[in-house]
Amino acid sequence: MQINFSLAQLADPHVAESEKILRKCVHCGFCTATCPTYVTLGNELDSPRGRIYLIKDMLENGRPADKEIVTHIDRCLSCLACMTTCPSGVNYMHLVDHARAHIEQTYKRPLLDRLTRAMLAVVLPYPSRFRAALKLAKLGRPFIGLFEKLPALKPVAAMLKLAPSSLPPASPNASPGTHAGQTKKRGRVAILTGCAQSVLDPAINGTTISLLTRLGIEVVVPEGEGCCGALVHHMGREDQALASARRNVDAWTRAINQGGLDAIIITASGCGTTIKDYGFMLRLDPAYAGKAARVSALAKDVTEYLATLELPEPVRKPGTVVAYHSACSMQHGQKITRQPKELLAKAGFVVREPREGHLCCGSAGTYNILQPDISAKLRDRKVKNIEATGAEIVATGNIGCITQIASAARLPVVHTIKLLDWAYGGEPPKMS
Ligand code: SF4
Ligand code: SF4
Repeated sequence: MQINFSLAQLADPHVAESEKILRKCVHCGFCTATCPTYVTLGNELDSPRGRIYLIKDMLENGRPADKEIVTHIDRCLSCLACMTTCPSGVNYMHLVDHARAHIEQTYKRPLLDRLTRAMLAVVLPYPSRFRAALKLAKLGRPFIGLFEKLPALKPVAAMLKLAPSSLPPASPNASPGTHAGQTKKRGRVAILTGCAQSVLDPAINGTTISLLTRLGIEVVVPEGEGCCGALVHHMGREDQALASARRNVDAWTRAINQGGLDAIIITASGCGTTIKDYGFMLRLDPAYAGKAARVSALAKDVTEYLATLELPEPVRKPGTVVAYHSACSMQHGQKITRQPKELLAKAGFVVREPREGHLCCGSAGTYNILQPDISAKLRDRKVKNIEATGAEIVATGNIGCITQIASAARLPVVHTIKLLDWAYGGEPPKMS
């Protein structure tokens, strides 16, 4: 692809980075075959190659974003399947992140769209606000049918449909403190409490802490950490995302300085992908670049970390047939494909992989709220493939996928860690 940025444009480090990425794309189109939106909509502009072209055109001409590019970039799930497929190593993630920030700075969205996005950005990353909003959602449920008929209010309908009818109590494990290992100390880790997951299913972290401490790992919940910033990062709200990243980097740096950390454990793969990118996100901030790179290097999905430990024989071998759904942020964002399945098999589960495992379930952060129609198509396709495995239960490592798949599947959906904890002597997972 011919690239023509001026020297003045390249003086902007964000443009310079995108130019490097654009130069790598040879326009072969291999990525189109695995792109969920291209597979669903069949429009080249809804494929990675089409979006790359639109982004190049916008950045090269120094143009503000227009309705066309916003439409096609908004439809991108940031699932990163294109990065797994691309033979040229095009870093589509950093390119589309830059495009989203450019859109946020240069494009005025319609009023309702702006209001919806602003509401998501001020509610979702904050557990107490999110909890209050989910309680309020009950009042709006009778109006779902009405909202669905009005295109501008479809995101509100989608939100109300996704809101659970009851919430588990807040977890005491979310409070800052240290959970000592219960056997001879084998390591020390911090755990991300995060935001939405701590409200929707606090037992995920509770179970993780229980399993790790039984294995002799000390688990620290550091003071001052919170949302990883992924939700707002994918909406192009860079300042808010970087503020979250800096706050977490500070919290984990204190924990590192107070006793060292072998890893920062993350139980939501969407968050893991972003935290592993903190080093890049904060590279231009001299006060944080080094600390952020250290945090990114320590970040590990819980299954990635467990796979490095010598595990004892499981207490029970359940023999349950499990469909393992690999979240996009797990398989494409972090390239973790083997470990969760191997851990489940070693723990005595029979693991089955659904067809089209590379395709997104349509959750993708706030995508199932902002793009409900495409999201529902992808969800139904995913559920059909999962149910065709004949499994008794679905395991996955991302709260977004759990909520999305559970909203349509007839079988229970749980976090992988709950099955592992059960096999290694914990409580059986609660099925909803
Ligand atoms: S992103 Fe990669 S796979 Fe897609 S067109 Fe460019 S070089 Fe080909
Ligand atoms: S991130 Fe996913 S939806 Fe977006 S272009 Fe790549 S494959 Fe398509």
